[in-house]
Amino acid sequence: MKTHIMNKDLSMEVLRDGLTARDVLTNKVNSGGRDDKDDAFFVCDLGDVVNKYKKWVSCLPRVEPFYAVKCNDSPHVLQVLANLGTGFDCASKTEVQTVLNLGVAPDRIVYANPCKQTSHIRYAKKNSVDLMTFDNEDELHKIKNYFPDARLLLRILPPAAEAQCQLGMKFGCHPSQAPKLLEVAAQLDLSVVGVSFHVGSGCLEASAFARGVESAKRIFNIADQYGFDFDMLDIGGGFPGQESAAISFDEIVADLGPALDEHFPPASGVRIIAEPGRYFVASAFTVAVNIVAKRMVARDIQEFKDEEAEDAVMNSVAPSMCEEPAFMYYVNDGVYGSFNCLLYDHAAVTPSLMRDVDKEEALFSTSVWGPTCDGLDRIMEHCLLPELQVGDWILFEDMGAYTMAAASTFNGFSKPSCYYVVDANMWSSNNHAFIQSECYTRRQVKDSSITLPAIKRGLCAQERLGITQIPSVA
Ligand code: PLP
Repeated sequence: MKTHIMNKDLSMEVLRDGLTARDVLTNKVNSGGRDDKDDAFFVCDLGDVVNKYKKWVSCLPRVEPFYAVKCNDSPHVLQVLANLGTGFDCASKTEVQTVLNLGVAPDRIVYANPCKQTSHIRYAKKNSVDLMTFDNEDELHKIKNYFPDARLLLRILPPAAEAQCQLGMKFGCHPSQAPKLLEVAAQLDLSVVGVSFHVGSGCLEASAFARGVESAKRIFNIADQYGFDFDMLDIGGGFPGQESAAISFDEIVADLGPALDEHFPPASGVRIIAEPGRYFVASAFTVAVNIVAKRMVARDIQEFKDEEAEDAVMNSVAPSMCEEPAFMYYVNDGVYGSFNCLLYDHAAVTPSLMRDVDKEEALFSTSVWGPTCDGLDRIMEHCLLPELQVGDWILFEDMGAYTMAAASTFNGFSKPSCYYVVDANMWSSNNHAFIQSECYTRRQVKDSSITLPAIKRGLCAQERLGITQIPSVA
């Protein structure tokens, strides 16, 4: 492994000789090399983020991704995405500030919070972040007072869809309210440039996006009655980020692509952006937690809740499963830390071990608990695992979305550190994704051989994918 510096503050390890992120986890666990050898830790494969970007560009070439910073504000991830040329969806002053500090131009940011704090709007104005969403009349008056030149996207409620996290009860105006809001915006002499929607975070219905596009198109059709000439569509987030998701990115694309072509063909001149969060980060992160305590309990205290799982085990997976006892393991990350996704994101997590489990090995009813003193702090109510010991490690994959971003240090338990890696092939063929390029700083953009409009629209993204070196700045 070799350490490389991404920018003056960020470093990552390049994996040589076929070493994988999983090997890094194993090495960290076995050989330590860490100050607190038993602390929970993450490993992030930054190459996974780059691959997601490549897939996005090849599947939805007309849709510019504006990464939703709220999902995971890891500076490494933000830097890689900035280097690749994505835009950013920010919801607060701090998120805007973080992205600007990377050197990202303000016109690569959408301030996608329909209910904004006044001082945050002023900050956006001061820093020329002028693209923002709204969904109610009061917000229009606020924007009129504090940023009358802002370019506005009307966030509508798309047709209902199943999602991991519903957002419609909080944001998005019903399409029937759109005419009234456009009328008020016109009276206030504000500039509404298009429509945005969000089908729900972690969308569970592939067709939801296409339905949202149709709804948005209906608002586009009435815009000119209010004197607006819409030229932007924002299709929000909700795209899955891991293999195990209920629907795949490909299924969404199969519906969404044709809907965009039908309602917003290239000839329409409408710029299309999206706000994917989990799509980019979910699968890149794995967390390793250490068993700090163990309790053996009688089976009747920890009854099977999931009979199907029991049947599966009884019939095939573990012929020698023991009826008793059951085990409770206490690990050093929990729902007040990275596993807050269980509460806030309605996520489901799956444990795996650092070793293979022999088919003959007995499996026991197991629950896994976080380290705090709160009874709510439970990661798994029930799963089947071989007997483990204090000091053993449990891995949870696909832990990049809405995990570390909202973790707390409640009860004095620190958040896991994160090791960033990339494999040697990815490193050498996509160097531009990892090394900060000066060409994206606002100051340098003026002198750069990449034109500002090209950066703005992310159109250089595809070109850059085909080359290993971005054009240097004089
Ligand atoms: N955009 C907005 C306005 C959001 O509220 C969210 C998530 O809550 C996202 C984008 C990202 O959603 P996801 O991570 O499901 O892509």
